[in-house]
Amino acid sequence: MTIISKDISKAVTILNAEALVAIPTETVYGLAGNIFSEKAIKSIFETKKRPFFNPLIVHIPSVELLPTIVSYVPKKAQQLADALWPGPLTLVLPKQSIIPDIITAGKETVAVRIPNHQMALDLLNQLDFPLAAPSANPFGSISPTTAQHVNDYFKNDIQMVLDGGSCQRGIESTIIGFEGDEPIIYRLGSTPIETIESIVGSIQIKNKKEITPDAPGMLERHYAPKTKTILVDNLSEAIEKNRDKRIGVLAINKLSDHQAIAFQIVLSKSTDTQEAASKLYDALHQLDKQDLDIIIAERFPDFGLGKSINDRLQRATVNVKSI
Ligand code: AMP
Ligand code: MG
Repeated sequence: MTIISKDISKAVTILNAEALVAIPTETVYGLAGNIFSEKAIKSIFETKKRPFFNPLIVHIPSVELLPTIVSYVPKKAQQLADALWPGPLTLVLPKQSIIPDIITAGKETVAVRIPNHQMALDLLNQLDFPLAAPSANPFGSISPTTAQHVNDYFKNDIQMVLDGGSCQRGIESTIIGFEGDEPIIYRLGSTPIETIESIVGSIQIKNKKEITPDAPGMLERHYAPKTKTILVDNLSEAIEKNRDKRIGVLAINKLSDHQAIAFQIVLSKSTDTQEAASKLYDALHQLDKQDLDIIIAERFPDFGLGKSINDRLQRATVNVKSI
């Protein structure tokens, strides 16, 4: 049985014993283990059924610890860390030799961030080691944004979910790597590109479709419900075209009144993209439970967090058979 609890000291005991705890962060829940315990890290990969080519993000509680994880910090990386940590920004930098290969999938770089969630920070401050904490979902499925989502995926597989409420940001961190000293976006996420560009100037997105991409969050199909999902600009046209099916709708800001709709969710009545991002995965979890033939999702205006939401919705639409 999985315990769902707010008891940080219990989480400390379990993590010190090389077992796993699902932890809250401001982005999504993470499946956390000691980065220096081979046993814990192996069980993260096994529990998630995550391929070993997919490296893990290291979570630390303060920027002073960064030099213990990475061996070199370009000026623009330091500027981003100073401006945005704790927060939903992951930096990929050259690793220190003590970082195990299993964490980095054999790469010479390591991904690191400071989560902006008080419970996660309190926990990290009580441990003698950083935590690897990939999203607490089976590989490729929708990320969890509540303790209940984690429990639905992993009941009995993990000892504890540390319950820190619903995740306020709701989509994963933005991942930034470096080519030379120049930053590049590897994965769109909860920190909008515009925020990053206001700190380090214009930045390129490396969004190629690869089998072992630089950041597997870039895999073509990821974050996906089981129900067939399409992403459209014109909702009513798409509803009309699919009228013979049992339709679920994920709308930006208003309900539709078409008879063919069996279930619908509006992400933000006021078109607030932060509100929409925080509700996105819970909405997909709910839609996926309704026994629908199709989920029709409405595309957001392509800027700010809207761009990150569209990225996730796009990856949710890729049919398994087509890749
Ligand atoms: P998640 O499983 O949601 O925590 O996602 C972790 C993301 O961080 C994945 O997309 C990883 O590929 C990415 N990542 C971790 N380490 C590295 C690295 N060394 N280089 C590039 N991406 C990384
Ligand atoms: Mg993930």
